[in-house]
This record gives sequence, C-alpha cells and structure tokens, in this order.
Amino acid sequence: MFIYFFPQFSWEIAHKALTLTFYLGVPLIVTFFREAFPAHFHQKVVRVIQSIAAMFVALVILTPARIFSVVNPGYQIFTICVIVYLMATFMKIVHANDDGWLIIAWGLAIILTSLNDIIFLSIWMNDHSLPVLRNIFRTDNLSAIGQLIFVFTNSIVLAKRFSKSLEYEENMTKELTAINQNLDALVKKRTEALNESKIELEKANYTLEQMARRDPLTGLWNRRHYNETIELEWRRCLRHQKPITIMVLDIDYYKMYNDCYGHVAGDECLIKIAQTIEVLFGRSSDLVVRYGGEEFVIVMPEAGETQAIQMARKVLKSIEALNIPHELSPIAPRVTVSIGVASMVPEDHRSYGDLLLSADKALYQAKSAGRNRYHYFT
Ligand code: GH3
Ligand code: MG
Ligand code: MG
Repeated sequence: MFIYFFPQFSWEIAHKALTLTFYLGVPLIVTFFREAFPAHFHQKVVRVIQSIAAMFVALVILTPARIFSVVNPGYQIFTICVIVYLMATFMKIVHANDDGWLIIAWGLAIILTSLNDIIFLSIWMNDHSLPVLRNIFRTDNLSAIGQLIFVFTNSIVLAKRFSKSLEYEENMTKELTAINQNLDALVKKRTEALNESKIELEKANYTLEQMARRDPLTGLWNRRHYNETIELEWRRCLRHQKPITIMVLDIDYYKMYNDCYGHVAGDECLIKIAQTIEVLFGRSSDLVVRYGGEEFVIVMPEAGETQAIQMARKVLKSIEALNIPHELSPIAPRVTVSIGVASMVPEDHRSYGDLLLSADKALYQAKSAGRNRYHYFT
C-alpha cells in the first residue's frame, strides 16, 4: 500500500521494513503463546528463539539488502523449526485443555498460513518450480487470512477464559457461603453439645456435693451438712422469732452391743435406728444428722418445748417397737436410746452452739437418770 502511494520511496528501506515484519513476527508470536500458556513452554527454548531472531533482526537493520537477503533462507529454515516446536507444544496444550479445537484453530491459523507463504516465497520453490507444489501452494498471502482467523479465535479464547474465571469466582463465592452456613450450624451444634455436657457436669457436681454431705452408712446428713445448715436455720428463726429445737440422741450400751453381736450387726442396728428417726422427722425443714459414731442430732426449726417433747417420746416408742435384741444391756432386753432435748427462741447474744451444748447436757442427764429416756433442758 505504502509503496503504491509512494512509488519513489527508497526500495532499500521498504524492503528492510517488509523483512522485519516477518523477522519480528516469529519471536513475537512465540512470546505471545508463551504468555498465553506459560506452563507448556520451555523458558530456555523461548530465550534461544528470541536471541536467534534478535541476531537476524540486527543483521537486517545494519546491513544492506543484498547482504541480508542472502541469509533469508536461513531464517526461513529457523522459522520452520520454530513452527515445529510450536506444533509440538500445541499438541501438549490441546491434550491438557477442554477447548482443544479452538486452540488448534487459534494457533494453526497463523502457523500454517505462515508456512504456506514461506514455502511459496522461497527461492527454492521459485527456482525448482515443482508442479505438485505449485498446485498446493497457490498464493503468497495466506498468512493475512491466518491473521484474521487468529484475531477472531483469540477473542473467543480470551472471552472464554474471562467467563471461566468469572464462573470460578461465582462458584467460590457459593462454596464460601455454604461453608459459612455449615460453620454456623457446626457452632450451634457444638454449643448445644457443650451446654448438654455442662448440664451433665452440673448434675454430677450436685450428686457429688450431696454425697459429700451424706453419711455413707446410714444415708443421713453428715456433720458437714449440719455445720452448713444449722446457722441458716438459726438465723431464720431469729428473724421470725420462732423457737428452734435440737435433740441429741445416743444409743445406750452400744459398745456392749458391738462386743456381743459384732461390728456388722452393730452397723445394721445403726442403719435401722437411722431409718426409723428419719421417717419420724418428715418435715422438709427438719434435719436428721449422724453426728458421731452412734450419736444423732436432730434439728427442728419452728418447734418449741411441747412439740419437742412429743417427738422425743415418739422416737423412744418407735425404737422400742423396733425391738432389736440386746442381751448384755443392763436396762432392757432390747436396744434403747437416750435423748437430750433443748429448745429456745434465738436471741442475738446466744448461738446455736449454746443450744447444742444444752441438748448435750440434757443427754448426759438422761444417761445419769438411767438411760432409755429423754431429758428436756430447762
Ligand atoms: P453409753 O450408753 O454410755 O452411750 O455407752 P456406749 O457403749 O453406747 O458408748 P461408748 O461411747 O462407750 O461406745 C460407743 C461405741 O460405738 C464405740 C464404737 O465402737 C461404736 N461405734 C462407733 N461408730 C460405729 C460404727 O460406725 N459402727 C459400729 N458397729 N460401731 C460403732
Ligand atoms: Mg456415744
Ligand atoms: Mg452410746
């Protein structure tokens, strides 16, 4: 076109420009495909191709047409080598890609049409003029069509890549959302499991605490529970100015019972007496405690003298009714107990310790008075 409009233009420069478009095209197209499929091209091979092309390009720029035209067949052979390398690499790419046909069209369009033009324009072809080859290679400008196909398929390949990466991103977003939702569910599930184990743990702790407050032999409250509860009951009665009663109960001649029947029978006797007392003191605020070996303490909040004495009598009667044989007892043929009873309306300057001491004194009096009885502390 340029020469057509400017026929006077220097043939030398025009020829250089024409040759350079071909010479520069080879390394550029290789570089282009290398950028498109970096994983499939050998970096070193691409470097060598670029270097050789650079040398030829320098020759074209620096020397006159009559010199660089001589080496032109050399560059054509080099180009064919490059084409072979590109073809081989394309086989690999097609093998590894879904859009095989598109890539073939993309690459082959430019490669094969260039090959056609090279052969058609080669000195060898013009000199020998084989009729068969003349039939196959009819035109010298096929690579222009190749370039058109190349540009077209290139757009499709790029658009496909673009939509693929967009789709990939969308899928990733979806997956991420799903994972987040699962995470919510997972956290919820774990929290529920944690709450469940927390409840179990609380239950176990409660049981353990109850166990620590119970006497293992009789199942009654132990002294520890007594110590923790008595103060509360005392203060409650102090606040409401209601009487509170403490009974101390001791089995008579229990050492002799053990000596006579053995410790196992002694334990059984303890359990029976414990159960009997527990049944008698059914009010939720009543406290039946195994205080020591064969000593029981009973706390009756909001109960005064009348009720206390009534209950002491009931205890004596129930234990008599148990009728546990006790051969060695000097006072009866069965197991008996002595009870010390004390009650008072709590006052600020008194303590529950005083009340227990009074009940203990009453017990001592019951023992001295002949056992198997109660004594009310006055
Ligand atoms: P008293 O009428 O004056 O109360 O005389 P006692 O023999 O009942 O009183 P003492 O304190 O001399 O004896 C208490 C006995 O209780 C001594 C001990 O061997 C026995 N004992 C304490 N705890 C247990 C127990 O858990 N099981 C059995 N089998 N015996 C126990
Ligand atoms: Mg005792
Ligand atoms: Mg005793």
